[in-house]
Amino acid sequence: MAAENDKLRATPLAIAATCFFALAISVYLIKQLFAKSKRRKPCYLIAEFKPQYNFKRVLADNSYSQFKHLKLHEADSVAEEEELNLHPYKVEISSLMKNANVGILELFDGYEKWSMGMGGEYVWVEAEEQLRELVADLSNEEVFAVDTEQHGLRSFLGFTALIQISTMSKDYLIDTIVLHDVMGLLRPVFANPAICKVFHGAHNDILWLQRDFHIYVVNLFDTAKACDILSKPHKSLAYLLETYCGVATNKLLQREDWRQRPLSEEMIQYARVDAHYLLYIAYCLCLELKQLENENSSPGDKFHFILEASRRSNATCLQLFAKDIESCTGELAASSIISRCLNDPGNISPSLYDEKFQELVRRLCVWRDLMARLHDESLRFVLSDNAIIALAAKIPTTETNIYSSMLEADSDVESVTMVPLQTPSPVVCSHLDDLFCLLRGKITKLDDILQMCIREHLGQGGSCPLSAYNYALLSKTTLGTGNRITPNHNGFRASKQVAKMASRQLFVQKFSCKSPVYHNCKIYASDGRLLCYCDQRKLQWYLNRDLAKLVEGDPLSIMLLFEPKGRPEDEDNDFYIQKKKNICVGCGEGNHYLRYRIIPSCYRIHFPEHLKSHRSHDIVLLCVDCHEIAHSAAEKYKKHVAAEFGIPLFIRRVADLDKTQNTPISLPASCEEIGVSPLQLRIAAMALLRHGPQMPSQRREELTQTVMTYYGGREITNEDLEKALLVGMSPHERRRFEKKRGYTFKHFRKSNNPIDAEEDIGGRPPVTIQNASPDEDEEDSLRTKATDAYQQDDDTILEDAKITAPCSIDTDDSLSDTKIVSGIGSISISSNDDTSGSGNLSNGTIHPSDEKETLLKNDSKMSLLGHGPHGKQVVEYLLKEHGEDGVREFCQRWRHVFVEALHPRFLPGGWDVKHSGKRDFGEFSVYKPTTIASAAIAG
Ligand code: AMP
Ligand code: MN
Ligand code: ZN
Repeated sequence: MAAENDKLRATPLAIAATCFFALAISVYLIKQLFAKSKRRKPCYLIAEFKPQYNFKRVLADNSYSQFKHLKLHEADSVAEEEELNLHPYKVEISSLMKNANVGILELFDGYEKWSMGMGGEYVWVEAEEQLRELVADLSNEEVFAVDTEQHGLRSFLGFTALIQISTMSKDYLIDTIVLHDVMGLLRPVFANPAICKVFHGAHNDILWLQRDFHIYVVNLFDTAKACDILSKPHKSLAYLLETYCGVATNKLLQREDWRQRPLSEEMIQYARVDAHYLLYIAYCLCLELKQLENENSSPGDKFHFILEASRRSNATCLQLFAKDIESCTGELAASSIISRCLNDPGNISPSLYDEKFQELVRRLCVWRDLMARLHDESLRFVLSDNAIIALAAKIPTTETNIYSSMLEADSDVESVTMVPLQTPSPVVCSHLDDLFCLLRGKITKLDDILQMCIREHLGQGGSCPLSAYNYALLSKTTLGTGNRITPNHNGFRASKQVAKMASRQLFVQKFSCKSPVYHNCKIYASDGRLLCYCDQRKLQWYLNRDLAKLVEGDPLSIMLLFEPKGRPEDEDNDFYIQKKKNICVGCGEGNHYLRYRIIPSCYRIHFPEHLKSHRSHDIVLLCVDCHEIAHSAAEKYKKHVAAEFGIPLFIRRVADLDKTQNTPISLPASCEEIGVSPLQLRIAAMALLRHGPQMPSQRREELTQTVMTYYGGREITNEDLEKALLVGMSPHERRRFEKKRGYTFKHFRKSNNPIDAEEDIGGRPPVTIQNASPDEDEEDSLRTKATDAYQQDDDTILEDAKITAPCSIDTDDSLSDTKIVSGIGSISISSNDDTSGSGNLSNGTIHPSDEKETLLKNDSKMSLLGHGPHGKQVVEYLLKEHGEDGVREFCQRWRHVFVEALHPRFLPGGWDVKHSGKRDFGEFSVYKPTTIASAAIAG
């Protein structure tokens, strides 16, 4: 009965609850539905076709990474890759400028025979076959005229829509939209120095041809340059056409939409005229230049005006197309808009001066910039400057208000093109949610705007179509954010972050180890016990000398035919007999990795020899992201060490007050927290070395900051820059790189501390200190008879040992290949390079270090590597106060720093912060202190 009552009472409750839940669920579902339908607002591009979407080869995409120029020779090192982003025809053009073609007048021989008018037919080139025929025709010409038409409104960077080429007999109009992907066929004729190309005002055309087709003009005659020399009252093509040919042209047609097909008769006529008369005009101008020459120079001192015109023309050809990469997306536009407002006397609205207004302008500019890149539209197509001002001043928050603000702002603006400008643009209409978000201040950090846009619009299930133009923006972003470890984003300026992401993939492809570091080949003792893992080269060394036999094929394994002196396990060194994975020890990333030295080389290089033998334990593989984190933590800890021991990281001394401002460039406050990716580092260093002196100072400053940050905030020298190029390379790669840069290694070896040899001498057979991979010293642990054998047939050891002679000059970083040769000073690795590498950043500022300073004081080029005497002094202090245990404890600290910073999850088994594998050394081992001492004496 009581139970029944309960039931009765329970029923209405249950019903109420059920109803409530049903209601809640339906409200939720309806909300979801709305949210979805709202988010699903389709991007206008889904329903719109843009001709550039048919291009398969897009050389200049809309990402923040720099344009890559044509490479005529495959670079085989990464750094060279960077280096080669230079003009591929620099040599040819420079030589033309030196020995310019004075015979240009002769090219026009028989011009009277041309029919000057345009009565003849023109050839519309729209098939690849036709283009090939054209190339064949042009190859037989000595001179032809060129002009291009561009489309800019519905494209972020613009693209070439038409190329007009005229020979003395024919006019060609090339449909560069349908032929976009095969336009490279024209590259040889344009680059042929034996064929003169006549342009009028070639400046932009030169860059556009590079941008779209990697076409480079070699041997140019620019009629506008001739006008300059002749001091013509006007130098527009319209003027020349009028004056020399009696032809009127309507330059308004420039602004037509050159994408349209078929072109109107009027446009075809305009386009033909632009190229057709150029040869004749060039001929006339050359005659005048010749005339001027005769009038103006005495027989003994002839000034070649034609030559000068040709020289100035070819100077234009040396330009290189480059994307404008702002340090902060939209920054330039924003500041120009803001200053325009502030300077406009018509602006009485006080709101224009306030922070909030300016902040909104910046936000809108970032958004506009990114949306233009994503949709491949020009900025003005997405949102006009006036609309930005109106939005930032009025802060409308409803759709109607937003639209009316924009319409009002754009009402009195005359379109710069004939293509009708839509206000509000389809970009705004289909992505109005973004604007709500920005105007309501929901997202304020500029960086977040970028992240949000890329994620929402291009990410999985994003609202906008992916294309060749925006793909790089996405793929690089995903890489950046998909990673386990994301460095602290605060303090990064927007585009820096994106640029960083954009270049990461490039880095991974090109800068990381090219092949597995660990081959995991095995060496067995004759009794079948595993001695160690090593790389193939080492196996080969034993095999070649019949010291071992092959026992397994995969992985390659050998068995020694002699009895090694010791076994790893005898010494509690299990670490050395395990297989090592080719993955980042931090996060397990297996696709790329670089070497990372846990104990900074600036200390390690000063350790007593026998404490240095545990390389493979303390050199690990890290992916780019983990490398950055670990390095940054190490730099920070160096400062801690400096403070603790009272040994400053570096001493700054101003050698020449006139030459240098001795105030160190201040670092952004955030630099302590953020590291510098090895990629950023290398790119910055390479750019500074190559183009430092020519660079705009702001850019130079920025890049310098990057490198300084990497070096823990200290001032940097050219050597530091050079050293930066080597970060993460294997000794082998470094050697190759340096060879490329023009100095040989052997040269340095003699003058080096043997410690360097440990890191640097590689590629040679095993058993001694030679190291080609982190596991190299495992080999040493064998301390086999083979060592002796090897040492006897190679005198290198002796050579290395000589280095320890007391007069040797030590350096603080074994990572770098020491460049100090007594009395000679530092040798610049870019010394064989004509233009660059000489930009001495810290000109006059040197980092003195004990005796070296006095020794080489007078050499202005002298600049010591790394942290000057810091590393050496710290190690000396440790040894003095605590002996070798002090050094061991010091190593443990560094391992601890490494572990704390990275929490590495993939360290090989047996890796231990306390690792100290005591090892004694074979009689001839280079690690054996007596060996070194006696060798030194012998030397
Ligand atoms: P032109 O060789 O003078 O016909 O100009 C080549 C291309 O430059 C044109 O197709 C336009 O895309 C661009 N251009 C030159 N001047 C202007 C202008 N005043 N306004 C817009 N576009 C221009
Ligand atoms: Mn033109
Ligand atoms: Zn879209």
